[in-house]
Amino acid sequence: MDQKTKQILESDRYNVFHASTHLKQYASGELSGRVVTGASGIRIHDSLGNELLDGFAGLYCVNIGYGRKEMAEAIYEQAKQLAYYHTYVGHTNEPLVTLSERIINMAPSGMSKIYYGMSGSDANETQLKLVWYYNNVRGLPNKKKIISRDRGYHGSSIAAGSMTGLALFHAHFDLPLERIKHTVSPYYYRRSDSDMSELEFSAYCAQQLEAMILAEGPDTVAAMIAEPVLGTGGIVPPPQGYWQAIRAVLEKYDVLLIADEVVCGFGRLGVNFGSQYYDMKPDLITIAKGLTSAYQPLSGVIVGDRVWSVLENGTDEWGPFGHGYTYSGHPIAAAAANCNLDIIEREGLVENAQTVGAYLQQKMISQFAEHPLVGDSRGVGLLHALEFSPDKQSRAQFDPNLKVGPQVAAACLEQGLIARAMPHGDILGLAPALVTTKNDVDVIVTKVDKALNKVMDNLVTSNVWRG
Ligand SMILES: *Cc1c(COP(=O)(O)O)cnc(C)c1O
Repeated sequence: MDQKTKQILESDRYNVFHASTHLKQYASGELSGRVVTGASGIRIHDSLGNELLDGFAGLYCVNIGYGRKEMAEAIYEQAKQLAYYHTYVGHTNEPLVTLSERIINMAPSGMSKIYYGMSGSDANETQLKLVWYYNNVRGLPNKKKIISRDRGYHGSSIAAGSMTGLALFHAHFDLPLERIKHTVSPYYYRRSDSDMSELEFSAYCAQQLEAMILAEGPDTVAAMIAEPVLGTGGIVPPPQGYWQAIRAVLEKYDVLLIADEVVCGFGRLGVNFGSQYYDMKPDLITIAKGLTSAYQPLSGVIVGDRVWSVLENGTDEWGPFGHGYTYSGHPIAAAAANCNLDIIEREGLVENAQTVGAYLQQKMISQFAEHPLVGDSRGVGLLHALEFSPDKQSRAQFDPNLKVGPQVAAACLEQGLIARAMPHGDILGLAPALVTTKNDVDVIVTKVDKALNKVMDNLVTSNVWRG
């Protein structure tokens, strides 16, 4: 390691508090760091001269790929023109107006206005406040509970972290908040009754949701929040008929649907929004990640007509809506989002996600579904997961202490491929940028194959698995 990298990493250990990190192992040097120095297309570079193919687009966010000069210029031009002014009480800026009109036109029908934030988590905090306010205006002060799902991911702040359905984000942080409940995950592979068809499993999920609403009391349940496809919880597309069955239950009990489109939004499934792909008909939509391809931090809450008109009435009664972030509607972030959407449109990246996404699904399944280490190979669009199991038939799980998922991710890294060991279960996730080509997919599949075989050999030779 060169002297400069060593110095940077040393200073980093002393001064930086990293997200999702074993703090002591990192501070002590047991866990190594990486200085990322640059990136272009779907590849990142580090200070040691490594080039890595990023099969996860950062955190499924750099959809247009890295190193776009056009983005840098749009950001620079806007910073020169107007770097900042707030958007309170009717103050606005042109990039924000342009962006909002574009998003409303792309979104499912019936969407009215967009409230802006900086992250997916803060947008989901906004969702919660909107929903609570909405039911206060309607004279339903007890209708406040939010139903999320096991394995859902909605961020890591207090309310968003509560809506997340992963133990890692709750345990030892005194979460979830009281008003947030979790129903079953639409996780067909891990169904308890192996005889169930996908349709039957969807009906079962809807029944469980209905039972929860009835047990809590329908007059206490305000909304359900859900990703069209579970992302961080393991990249799990819903089983057939799931959204139709869920929608019917929500309608029956006057429960709003919040679609968390932070991953699916802006093309990842080969259509603009996951809600359109699955015909979810949400009342509210959360957007972030792909909105700017992470060139600037920007998120949004798209509010449907039904909620909007109630919010308007609320302000008639109670005065201005008491919610605002200093950086809501930031002009530089809006300019970046506009340029990002220009690129997506001009280069046909949503269509590319559809065709290359279909190719990715076909290649992954044909290559790995029968692999001895793989229990499930699943995905949609440019999202795919391999779930590892020691036994295909029983769908058993490896001892978590073996860390089979992280081992495969580490073996991919040795092949120069970044794939993500998902935080819960032995699951390897892929979510490459929307600019990925079929040729890139071939490269990814070859690297994953080598990594899988290496881990399989290790498990067999170390006698923890007979293969
Ligand atoms: C990443 C993510 C969030 C949280 O976004 P942050 O910008 O990390 O706060 C929320 N919902 C989903 C579906 C996400 O993937």
